[in-house]
Amino acid sequence: NRQVQLAARPVGTPTAADFHLATTAVPVAGPGQLLLRTVYLSLDPYMRGRMSDAASYAASVAIGATMVGATVCRVQSSQHAGFAVGDWVLAYTGWQDYALSDGTGLTKLDPGLARPSYALGVLGMPGFTAYMGLLDIGAPKAGETVVVAAATGAVGSVVGQIAKLKGCRVVGIAGGADKCRSAVQELGFDACIDHHNPDLAALLAAACPKGIDVYFENVGGKVFDAVLPLLNTAARVPVCGLIAQYNATALPEGPDRSPLLMRTLLTKRIRMQGFIIFDDYGHRYPEFAKDMSQWLANGQIKFREDIVNGLENAPQAFIGLLEGKNFGKLIVRVAND
Ligand code: NDP
Repeated sequence: NRQVQLAARPVGTPTAADFHLATTAVPVAGPGQLLLRTVYLSLDPYMRGRMSDAASYAASVAIGATMVGATVCRVQSSQHAGFAVGDWVLAYTGWQDYALSDGTGLTKLDPGLARPSYALGVLGMPGFTAYMGLLDIGAPKAGETVVVAAATGAVGSVVGQIAKLKGCRVVGIAGGADKCRSAVQELGFDACIDHHNPDLAALLAAACPKGIDVYFENVGGKVFDAVLPLLNTAARVPVCGLIAQYNATALPEGPDRSPLLMRTLLTKRIRMQGFIIFDDYGHRYPEFAKDMSQWLANGQIKFREDIVNGLENAPQAFIGLLEGKNFGKLIVRVAND
């Protein structure tokens, strides 16, 4: 049983040395237990926070412990009445090949699901985050301008497509020409700006001639700096993530810009609200699942996955996620189903 363990707490950008690939015996299911074999492991930005011991909304991973994470598994052996060998489940078994479970917290997946990995993406946590953050906090109205960064990623790509379904003008911000082309041509965004372009602020202003009514914040940093002057009166800003800052070891240098932010919030009566998806909205999962299943079935939402083969490649893939190397929802295929 291979396990990717946390070897050291990263300082700044994580490196390969912060992870350790250990091999242990495959556990055996006892009475009331089942053995899960990981097929897909989800890699998500929040894992950077778990590697750190700074206080946050969830506990850190201990040094020497297996990295946490959501997985799609198959039941390999079962001494549990509720699960049979071969069942597909959504679990939280982390970066490893096998794990024991007593059934707590497992969600059985429909065996007819075309892509079981969607339970980690468009039909799972990232899709749900996009849906609730945009619709509940962003509250977009037809004709408004919605801007979203990390626009081709797991969350951002869904935010933009839902905003299009609601009749908005949608402008994405993404890293590189390929991602921007895909946002427009495949996802149907009205425009997409490359944040590597030094003229980001001017290009964004030109793409938002009527200002910005909803900014779905995934990134922070220079992207937010470009957005702030364009926010309209009564704009809404769901604060979902700040990935540009996750590897930071200190506050950025330069003048303190918080007075500018506060003045803008006040004079433009802007509503800016953070959220943690399952803590704040767990009870609303069924309405999301119903809408999203329908949109997928009708071809109204498209979803791109970036699948990396092999558990041993998870650390490098995760490091790349924090640098924009992924194109779509990052998933590790740990085993063939
Ligand atoms: P993505 O699939 O979007 O992958 C991360 C992307 O972030 C990269 O591909 C890259 O896209 C962008 N990025 C990385 N580093 C930087 C940087 N320094 N500056 C600008 N962009 C950068 O990830 P997710 O969709 O899973 O997550 C998106 C955001 O949502 C994250 O901030 C995450 O923490 C947050 N989140 C929050 C949740 C909540 O409950 N609040 C739940 C789930 C996610 P590009 O190349 O286009 O720049």
